[in-house]
Amino acid sequence: MECIFCRIINKELPADVVFEDDMIMAFNDINPAAPIHILIIPKIHIGSVNELKSDDDLLAGRIITVAKELAKEKGIAEGGYKLLFRVGRHGGQEVPHIHLHLIGGAQLTEGIHAVDKKN
Ligand code: AMP
Ligand code: ZN
Repeated sequence: MECIFCRIINKELPADVVFEDDMIMAFNDINPAAPIHILIIPKIHIGSVNELKSDDDLLAGRIITVAKELAKEKGIAEGGYKLLFRVGRHGGQEVPHIHLHLIGGAQLTEGIHAVDKKN
């Protein structure tokens, strides 16, 4: 199994798991961008948002609901947070297993730019 997140799901690689059910796993990002930085992933391999099918609607919705529940549990719901799906090369996606970033716990100043000015 090559996919790093599938290996985490299969317990072949360790992760700091904060939530798990039959459909979803969530764990702390290894290189956090903010005090709270959790990745929420489906337990089946889906490469990116581009590969979602209408059959996955329930799963996609569940990913967002779990993010919301974790935000509340971590005490950042009221202060606010960001949810981010990167998609493909231009989106900066590095791990080819769909994942929702839950980022918060501090004022997030990074804006959304049409074009990354650093590149
Ligand atoms: P993306 O750029 O959207 O593909 O995000 C991938 C994220 O996965 C990055 O924020 C990485 O820090 C994180 N990441 C990579 N490997 C691991 C790992 N083994 N455990 C936890 N997070 C990871
Ligand atoms: Zn995978």
